[in-house]
Amino acid sequence: MIRFEHVSKQYENVTPHKDINGEIHKGDVVTIIGPSGTGKSTLLRMINGLEKPTSGKIYFDNQDITTENYNYPKLRRRVGMIFQSFNLFNNLTVLDNLVVPQMDILHTDKNSARKNAMDILTKMGLNQHYNSMPEQLSGGQKQRVAIARALVMNPEVLLFDEPTSALDPSMVSEVENTIKWLAENHTTMVIVTHDMKFAKEVSTRIFYLDEGEIFEEGTPEEIFEHPKRSRTKAFIENERILEISIENNNYDYNQIKNTIKEYTDSQRLPDYITFSIQSVFEELIIQTILKHNPQESVYFSVFEDNLTMDYKIRYTGKEFDPEHDQSLSMQILRNEITDYSYQYHPNSKKPNSIKFRSK
Ligand code: ADP
Ligand code: MG
Repeated sequence: MIRFEHVSKQYENVTPHKDINGEIHKGDVVTIIGPSGTGKSTLLRMINGLEKPTSGKIYFDNQDITTENYNYPKLRRRVGMIFQSFNLFNNLTVLDNLVVPQMDILHTDKNSARKNAMDILTKMGLNQHYNSMPEQLSGGQKQRVAIARALVMNPEVLLFDEPTSALDPSMVSEVENTIKWLAENHTTMVIVTHDMKFAKEVSTRIFYLDEGEIFEEGTPEEIFEHPKRSRTKAFIENERILEISIENNNYDYNQIKNTIKEYTDSQRLPDYITFSIQSVFEELIIQTILKHNPQESVYFSVFEDNLTMDYKIRYTGKEFDPEHDQSLSMQILRNEITDYSYQYHPNSKKPNSIKFRSK
């Protein structure tokens, strides 16, 4: 359906794409993953003609969409795009957000446009909001209305650019469930996301973008469980790490708790793990290390594998092994952790360093 042939894209200062080759078939759900700045958004924007390649060809149903005289308005009717930031018309009701584009772009008559809009809102469980203004909706509802607005145009493919990254964590799943529902209905989609668990659940194929190419592509199983190239592997592993840094006793504990919750949500980990990480953070970092040495910097990381959590913690300041601390906090923690080790080299200027595991 969509084919990239030796596509390159050069901006003045960067060249995100050197040689992109790949194909998206009808019914595919392709997720594009990769480090920031590798041109994931640019690739999406090239599919609907918002950007043109510097060289190379893109075919949509075997028609070259990179030629000068290509009919871009027509292309954009066939391709729906959903952005991070909803992009609804804020001065129009939900219904009119869906009606106006049909009338303007497809020249549908008002009654048919309204009927079509209400049908789709009903299917998506949004019909009770038809008369609301966007500002009256939650972020998750707004994004679902944005999806509904794309759907009323009856596009052949839907493009999503980080559709959940501007949402409050509690609203991510309603939007992801909508996208999964579309996937079950065989909607062709190309999705850019940082949520690897979602990518794993929804995709038929994954494109890992790096080094200006589709560096590796495969099924979710191939990319996430058996990546062939070391760069892909490093990226996938890195996405599974939670990292928190604190400097000069300057932190917002509620925000850190949220960061931990976002991480466990993104990894689809059970609530007890969330509480366990939060409790390690509270007892070890806040109640022990920072209490002992309030002005130092702390780096905290957790990596999850098969529900075992691997912790690595580093902190500046004088030698201090919390293991020997007699506080209640440490007594609580000692029961929950294994494989504890502490390192400090007085002459190397390296910070204190702790490793342990918990289940
Ligand atoms: P990603 O979505 O993977 O983070 P983008 O596609 O947004 O990457 O951008 C890829 C690179 O191209 C980045 O370095 C970005 O700064 C640059 N870039 C994107 N759009 C433009 C533009 N319109 N003009 C100049 N540089 C751009
Ligand atoms: Mg982007």
